[in-house]
Amino acid sequence: MKKETFVTKDKIKEIAAIYPTPFHLYDESGIRENAKAVNEAFSWNPGFREYFAVKANPNPFLIRILKECGCGTDCSSLTELMLSDSLGFCGEEIMFSSNDTPPEEFIYADRIGATINLDDFTHIAYLEDLLGTLPETLCLRYNPGGVYKLSNGIMDNPGDAKYGFTREQIIEGYRILKEKGVKRFGLHAFLVSNTVTNDYYPALAKTLFELCLEIREKTGVKMDFINLSGGVGISYRPEETPNDIRAIGAGVERVYRETLVPAGMGDVDIYTEMGRFMLAPFGCLVTQAIHEKHTYKEYIGVDACAANLMRPAVYGAYHHITVAGKEDAACDHQYDVVGSLCENCDKFAIDRMLPKIEMGDYLIIHDAGAHGFSMGYNYNGRLRSAEILLKPDGSFELIRRAETPKDYFATFDCFDNISDLT
Ligand SMILES: *Cc1c(COP(=O)(O)O)cnc(C)c1O
Repeated sequence: MKKETFVTKDKIKEIAAIYPTPFHLYDESGIRENAKAVNEAFSWNPGFREYFAVKANPNPFLIRILKECGCGTDCSSLTELMLSDSLGFCGEEIMFSSNDTPPEEFIYADRIGATINLDDFTHIAYLEDLLGTLPETLCLRYNPGGVYKLSNGIMDNPGDAKYGFTREQIIEGYRILKEKGVKRFGLHAFLVSNTVTNDYYPALAKTLFELCLEIREKTGVKMDFINLSGGVGISYRPEETPNDIRAIGAGVERVYRETLVPAGMGDVDIYTEMGRFMLAPFGCLVTQAIHEKHTYKEYIGVDACAANLMRPAVYGAYHHITVAGKEDAACDHQYDVVGSLCENCDKFAIDRMLPKIEMGDYLIIHDAGAHGFSMGYNYNGRLRSAEILLKPDGSFELIRRAETPKDYFATFDCFDNISDLT
């Protein structure tokens, strides 16, 4: 399927005249329509809630849009909890799915009433020690171990993952929670990342629903909610078929009706913690070609680098690139599209067939709305870019300014005299 962009070259020129490239650009209409589709896909479950995984994109303007669409937040750290709290999410709208958690973060999560999702058996006693008593609601994270396969072969290796309780531990865990007076119980698992298949959530749901029945039988604990977490992927590549959230919701509903309803558990709430699926396609990194280099390969040097979007450099991830204004031109030139870091992995694309690129062309790097800006860093003294929101009426708003050298030096006390170059 052809990968469409949500912004035209003219609009990019208009934006770049005010906010120079590189910048991350987000599509408000796309975000709202997609969030609505997610809610509709799970509307068969009255207690359904998507807790947006803040780590995927912690921009408060974007999270406020998702809040208006009925989403809660899923946090992994103190600052993400603080962000959620300050945006006005109430306790039950905040999930705290962290691991290797520092004590003050558990204390803060409890204070704001977030639902704590424990990653490890030893954290039960740890949390009780910290708080004096366990919260009324607790969720436990399950790791089945081994290799997780789906019919189309997509798999991951939970047995190698640091997350979650083993099967024996989780059953013993619920027994302890019940004994210690916990009133509301949740079960969580995140087994495979970026699945491009409609089968992942239904298969995971079946695993978790069956585990729920076993837990009830062995401990008497009746689950109140099941958190399918993240892992629903997007089609980064044009040849991939995008996930259909309606088919995914219907698949989970079928397993729910087959497994939980006959067992008298038709009142269990379904939660999700998607990050990528909620925002990735609705953000792009806009960058300008500033150099061309002809050596053993043909290079296009752009003004963004892996510090703005690290997925290609660290995972070898594919991000589609469109040359603005050349959407329909023949892709008859082969390039490596590179950033400026002194690291050879700083390549947004390798041996990519693209239209002929002129200096000054704008390149749109797709699917950067999640795990894009948020994974940015300051290596080589590179600065984080601006983030801009493109609104449904075509206007745009700066939702985070670009860093300046002053920001970079801000944590040193001895550089008070650094002034911005601009
Ligand atoms: C990263 C993460 C998510 C979001 O994952 P996506 O692949 O972006 O959907 C959800 N829950 C937890 C606990 C995570 O670590």
